[in-house]
Amino acid sequence: MPSPVGHVLFALAISGVPKPREVFTRRWAVLVVFAAIAPDLDFLPGILIGDPNRFHHGPTHSIAAAGVFTVLLALIFRNLSKAQVFVIFSIYLGHVLADTLAADLGAPYGVPLLWPFDDSYYIAPVTLFSNFSHGAQSVGIGDVIHDIFSIHNLRTVAIELAILGPFLWLTERYRRSRPS
Ligand SMILES: [Zn+2]
Repeated sequence: MPSPVGHVLFALAISGVPKPREVFTRRWAVLVVFAAIAPDLDFLPGILIGDPNRFHHGPTHSIAAAGVFTVLLALIFRNLSKAQVFVIFSIYLGHVLADTLAADLGAPYGVPLLWPFDDSYYIAPVTLFSNFSHGAQSVGIGDVIHDIFSIHNLRTVAIELAILGPFLWLTERYRRSRPS
């Protein structure tokens, strides 16, 4: 998986698609960041049982989960525009697809993209991002935290900044050039 920094950078890069008055609100900023990291909330049940990686890269990393998440958010926040709902879906699905583009050192490799129709795990043949290390399955929270704050992960974040930073800059430039 890319780091949370990478996921949020991608989300910010496409968050400016709706109308300007819909973009510059605190609620939109919170929803964008939440959608960017939502698939990784599958760490939470594992944290509760002392094995953070136990349920990671499960069904929350699928197209179906992106759909369910988007519908739920659209039902809760009924005045979201169609463009906003579409961007929320794209951010969530973008997270899942970005995970298929990151190196994965532990089986099963990749994500169950087509769950529940297909239980296979998918990962790109050539990965673009480095892996964000967060311990192996069955290790405790201490080891996971030790891994998260490693030099390796600093390098992972640097690669993401190098790839997604220019993407964010370009989309922001495009957004500003659009008539409001
Ligand atoms: Zn993920």
